Amino acid sequence: MKRALQVAIPSAVLGSALAFVVAAQTAAPAVTPEVTLTRLDCGGPNMPVDVARFSDTNAFDGKKLALTASCYLIKHGEEYMLWDAGYPAAVAGAQPGPTTPKMSVVEQLAQLKLTPEQIKYVGISHYHGDHIGQAGAFPGATLLIGKGDWDALTATPPAQGVNPAPVAHWVSGGGKSEPVPRDKDVFGDGSVVMLDMPGHTPGHHSLLVKLKTKGNVLLSGDLAHLKENYDSNGVPSFNTNRADSIASLDRFKKMAANLKATVIIQHDVRDVGKLPAFPAAAN
Ligand SMILES: [Zn+2]
Repeated sequence: MKRALQVAIPSAVLGSALAFVVAAQTAAPAVTPEVTLTRLDCGGPNMPVDVARFSDTNAFDGKKLALTASCYLIKHGEEYMLWDAGYPAAVAGAQPGPTTPKMSVVEQLAQLKLTPEQIKYVGISHYHGDHIGQAGAFPGATLLIGKGDWDALTATPPAQGVNPAPVAHWVSGGGKSEPVPRDKDVFGDGSVVMLDMPGHTPGHHSLLVKLKTKGNVLLSGDLAHLKENYDSNGVPSFNTNRADSIASLDRFKKMAANLKATVIIQHDVRDVGKLPAFPAAAN
């Protein structure tokens, strides 16, 4: 009886069933390798400075708050991404300025036994000089940057107030660049996603990093520079689009709530402690 049943299955049906099994195996989602997140110091005054210009409603007149600058290393299996490239590193022979990082990103990576050649992606939140300053140290990396910002950097002449010099290697076509029009799932498994958050600049992005132990982390870019602006939907006087800024804050905060994410405002010294101190990484 059993033997008769086997014979009764037409070979075409069996063949398509096998094909289905093979297809299902091929389409199985990739297993996300270990993902870790390390905070790098990227300069900044790291002391109270006049913050009046961070409000277009006079919220901070006469007020001083401490600001820092941070970059982030994301390890995804054996692949590495740098998020933001900070203030420029010290130049040999030149006097370091008040915002010059104590150690360059390359020097910090060396402490982690990493070389610049191992960085596959340099993801940039936006085109300001305190976020692209050290990008040139990673010429072999693919530059990921919002399309609106890429267009401003590559315009002839560049958009007003935009200095493409730190990313000239990519603007000139010497390096591989990928302008990001909306969101971008960097590694294709949803673990690291650039989020379209325009307003501070036309192509500004924030970054979502999904960690196994720590959970979801949202890196602000300059969606907000200070907790005071984040909490009150405050908009800096130098943002390129006020309405987009408010809309992006709304999206980011809803995502943070729904994903129960740790929010890190990259310039706010009060958020530094949300990640382990370098060289330790969150995972
Ligand atoms: Zn900034």
